[in-house]
Amino acid sequence: MRFNTALLHGNFKCDEKTGATQVPIYQSTSFEQKSPEKLENIFKGSEIGFIYSRINNPTVESFEKRIAFLEGGVGAVACSSGMAAITLAVLNILKSGDEIVSGSGIFGGTHSLFKNLSDYGIVTRYAEDSEVESFEKAVNQNTRLIFVETIGNPRLDVPNIKELAKLAHSKGIPLIVDNTAATPYLIRPLKLGADIVVHSTSKYISGSGNTIGGVIVDGGNFKWDFKKYDTLKEYEKFGVFTYLAKLRKGLFKDIGACLSPFNAYLSSIGLETLGIRMERICENAKELSLYLEKNPKVLKVNYPGLKSSKYFKRANEQFDGKFGGILTIRVGTKDAAFKIINSLKFPSNLANIGDVRTLVIHPASTIYATNTCEERQMMGVYDDLLRISVGIEDIEDIKEDFDQALKSL
Ligand SMILES: *Cc1c(COP(=O)(O)O)cnc(C)c1O
Repeated sequence: MRFNTALLHGNFKCDEKTGATQVPIYQSTSFEQKSPEKLENIFKGSEIGFIYSRINNPTVESFEKRIAFLEGGVGAVACSSGMAAITLAVLNILKSGDEIVSGSGIFGGTHSLFKNLSDYGIVTRYAEDSEVESFEKAVNQNTRLIFVETIGNPRLDVPNIKELAKLAHSKGIPLIVDNTAATPYLIRPLKLGADIVVHSTSKYISGSGNTIGGVIVDGGNFKWDFKKYDTLKEYEKFGVFTYLAKLRKGLFKDIGACLSPFNAYLSSIGLETLGIRMERICENAKELSLYLEKNPKVLKVNYPGLKSSKYFKRANEQFDGKFGGILTIRVGTKDAAFKIINSLKFPSNLANIGDVRTLVIHPASTIYATNTCEERQMMGVYDDLLRISVGIEDIEDIKEDFDQALKSL
C-alpha cells in the first residue's frame, strides 16, 4: 500500500455498525462490560476491551492504529500532547541515575523537559553536532537511550538515522526519534532501524492548528536487556509489546496524559490529508527558501533543501528528495526581525509549526526566551533569526509578502 492510500485505508475501515466513513467520537468516560468476569479479565490483560478513557478509548485507539500502521510499528499510545508523548516515551524506560544522549539542535520544550528531569536524577548529555561520532562520544555506561529529531527544530540538522540506530544498538540502547518536523511523508525512522518514534500530532499530522496531541509508536524490535532495563522485566510476557504494555499499564495510566476522543477525531481527519499537504508544503518551502536566498537583505537562509545546507546531501537521500516545511532566515538584528514580522500580511506570528497556513516567529524572544545565551547558541537560536513554517498558500503571495516586508528594512 502506497503512502496516500495508507493514510486513508491503512488499518482503518468504515464503522462496522453504521457504515459511517469517519471514526465515531466515543465521548464516554467508561465502558460497561457484560459480566464482572469479563471486566476482571480485561483488567488482568487476558481479554481485550475498553475500560476507562484515561487508559483506552475506541476513537483514540482508531487513531493509534492508523499512526502505528503508517510508521510501521507494532502499536502506538496517543497522548495529550507531543510533550506528554516525549516525557512518557523516555520515562517508560528510565530511572534515577540513568542518562539520555540527545541531539543538540532540539525543540525548546524537549530541552526544557530534559533539564527538569535532572531534578529526578536523570542526566542528559548533548552531542556536539549531528554526526554519529559526536553521539558516540557522549554515550557512557549509564546511557539508556539516544534521542534525536529527524529534522531538528529550529537548527534544521538532519542526522543519519540508520547510522545512529547502529550506534545505539552497538551500545545495547534504543534510538528514540521525534519525527514531528519530517513526518512519515519524508521518513519512517523505524524502517531505518530506530526503535521508538514520537510525534507532536499538534503539527503536521492534525495539520490545521486545531488540536494538541502526541503519539508514541514502538517498532517492537528492540531486544531489551532486562538487567539494564529491569522495570520492563515484569512485562516480558507481552513479547513485542513489552514496551507498550509497560507504558499503558504504567506511567501513561498513572500520569493521565491521555488524548481526548474529540482531539483524536480531529487528528484522524487531519492525518488523511497529510500526504497532499506535505507535498505542497515541501514544494512551497523549497521555492520560498530559493527566493529568499536571492534577496540581499537576507543574510542567511537555512533549509535542508538548499545546496548551501551542510545537510543537503543526507536529507536528499534520507528523505527521497523532499526537505520539509521549515526554514529559518537571519536578517542582521532583532529589530530587523521584528520589523519583518510587523510588515508581513499573511504569515501568522505565533508559536507553532505544521499548520496549513504560513507561520512566522522570532524564536529568541519567545520559545527560547528563558534559555541562557549558551543554550541558545547550542540550539542554533540567534537574535536575528526568524523561523518560518511554510503553509499551502499560493506561494507567489507569500513570496510577494516577504518581498514587501524586506523592503521595509
Ligand atoms: C511542538 C513540538 C513538540 C511538542 O509538542 P506539543 O504537542 O506542543 O506538546 C515536540 N517536538 C517537536 C519537534 C515539536 O515541534
